[in-house]
Amino acid sequence: ETVLRLTGIEKGYKLGRPNEVRVLRGADLTLAAGEVVALVAPSGAGKSTLLHIAGLLDTPDAGRVEIGGQDLSAASDRARTAARRGMVGFVYQFHHLLPEFTAAENIVLPQLANGAGPAEAEARAVALLSAVGLAARTDHRPAALSGGEQQRVAFCRALANAPRLLLADEPTGNLDPATSDTVFGTLMGLVRETGLSALIATHNLDLAARMDRVVRLEAGRLVPG
Ligand code: ADP
Ligand code: ADP
Repeated sequence: ETVLRLTGIEKGYKLGRPNEVRVLRGADLTLAAGEVVALVAPSGAGKSTLLHIAGLLDTPDAGRVEIGGQDLSAASDRARTAARRGMVGFVYQFHHLLPEFTAAENIVLPQLANGAGPAEAEARAVALLSAVGLAARTDHRPAALSGGEQQRVAFCRALANAPRLLLADEPTGNLDPATSDTVFGTLMGLVRETGLSALIATHNLDLAARMDRVVRLEAGRLVPG
C-alpha cells in the first residue's frame, strides 16, 4: 500500500521577472506503508520545499501529490487542509511548542482542533508522552524541559491525530550529537510502533543509515542514495 506518491513535481520561486530558481525539476517519490526514508541533500537544494509540498502546505507548479491513495493535486484548500490534519504530522528542527501550555496540553490542543473529546485527547497525550519516556513531564511547560525532551514532546504532538505520514525536517538538528542519537532512536521507536511512513530530511549520514533507504535530492530530482 502506498502512503505517499509524488510524481513529476516541479517547483520554482520567482525572484522578479524574468529570473526564477527552479528548485524541483520532476521529483518522483513513493513511500510504502511503514517505510522510513531519509532525504539527504546539501542546504538550499530544496528539501524544505519538497517536504512542504508533500505535506500539502505548498502547491507544486506541476506534478501530482497523492496521500493515502487520494490525489490532492487539484483539491480545494479546504480539502487539502482536512487531508493534512487527518493524515500528516510535521516535525521541525525547532520544537515550536506553545510556551504557555504544558507538554500534555501541547499534545491535547491539536486533537481538540481535530474534533476529539477532552478526556480522549488527554488520555492519548499521556500515552504518547509515556511512550517517549516523559510520563513524569506531562505537566511541565516547554521552558522547564531539556532540548531533547522538548523535541520528544514535539514528536508526540506530530502524532497526536494519528497521521499516516510523518514529515520531518532535521528533527534532531538542534541537539548535541549524543542527545541527537538517543532522541532519534526515540523517534524511530515511535514510528515503528505506530507503523507510520516517514520522510526525514537530515544532514547526518549516520542517522540516514538507520532508515530503510536513502534518497538524494540532486538537481531537482530524487535519486537513490
Ligand atoms: P533546503 O531545505 O534544502 O535548504 P529550501 O527548500 O529551503 O532548501 O530552498 C531551496 C531553494 O529555494 C533555495 O535556493 C532557497 O533560497 C529558495 N527558496 C526557498 N523558499 C523560497 C521563497 N519563498 N522565495 C524565494 N526563494 C525561495
Ligand atoms: P491548525 O490545526 O493549528 O490550524 P494546520 O491544519 O494549519 O494546523 O496545520 C497542520 C500542521 O501543519 C501542524 O502540525 C502545523 O505545525 C503545520 N503547519 C501549518 N502551517 C504551516 C506553515 N506555514 N509552515 C510550516 N508548518 C505548518
